[in-house]
Amino acid sequence: MKKLIAGIAVLVLIGYGVFEYQQRPAAVEDKWADVHHDPRHEQDSRNDGQEGQDQQGQQDQPEEQAKLTISSDEVRKGSLLLINRQYPVSEDGVLPEIVSLFQRKDLVKGFGILDNSVQLPLDLVQKFSVIVESAKNDGVTHFLITSGYRDNEQQRELYEKMGADYANPAGHSEHNLGLSLDIGSTVGMMKDAPEGKWLEQNAWKYGFVLRYPEDKTDITGVLYEPWHFRYVGLPHSVIMQEHSFVLEQYLDYLKEQRQITGAIDGQTYSVSFYPVIEGQDIQVPLPDQYELSGNNIDGVILTSWDAKVRR
Ligand SMILES: [Zn+2]
Repeated sequence: MKKLIAGIAVLVLIGYGVFEYQQRPAAVEDKWADVHHDPRHEQDSRNDGQEGQDQQGQQDQPEEQAKLTISSDEVRKGSLLLINRQYPVSEDGVLPEIVSLFQRKDLVKGFGILDNSVQLPLDLVQKFSVIVESAKNDGVTHFLITSGYRDNEQQRELYEKMGADYANPAGHSEHNLGLSLDIGSTVGMMKDAPEGKWLEQNAWKYGFVLRYPEDKTDITGVLYEPWHFRYVGLPHSVIMQEHSFVLEQYLDYLKEQRQITGAIDGQTYSVSFYPVIEGQDIQVPLPDQYELSGNNIDGVILTSWDAKVRR
């Protein structure tokens, strides 16, 4: 009987969740399942951006679809930016509301911070807290944030101290963007500690990825860092997990595919890449709910999602 009541309670909670969010959830359970999309939509998006306007006008469009205008500044903002020695962080890309966790002890719950220098964007602390809470249910409780956002001055000092093999020059580290954090464990090295293992297996469900895996050093150009996690958001972390992509590979894949559609936990997502030329605006079909991110190179990624459908 107790089990039944617990089961009902869980169902009620899940049901509540479904009604609650029109926004994307903070976490998912399922994998990505490809959805074959309506070819007409594909036509729309492929035609957009460059010279496709005329062609589109010739098609039978029952009504004029609303458009979203994207300026080329968007290439350097968002959660999918590729930051490395070649592509630096632009000032526009740095996340807002960066807080000192040493001063905001109210935000430090269920994890430790290494010292008084740890800073993170407020939004990222909240996202990390969801992870901590979830890991706690699995008995994994010894997280320690060792580094978060670093301004150019801190990055310069680190680069001088650690050298080029172990640190990036100022402006070329993901830490300068505010989307990455180094997570340690108070019970061992991350590559062996339960915290490291748990994150490696579960971070993707929360929009985070292990940015520099051991088997991708030839692609990332960075040595294995079992502590460095990067926020890319949903559904991207799920797709990356599915294909074992690092960010470099994922961005190439999106550019090649132009549009992918899939479902996670009964919610459909569409991810489209649009090339952008510096100084030129583009116009794309306006989705109801969307998020935009540049790739920091030559285009933008538009992620849209439908309201969740109850299965
Ligand atoms: Zn790091």
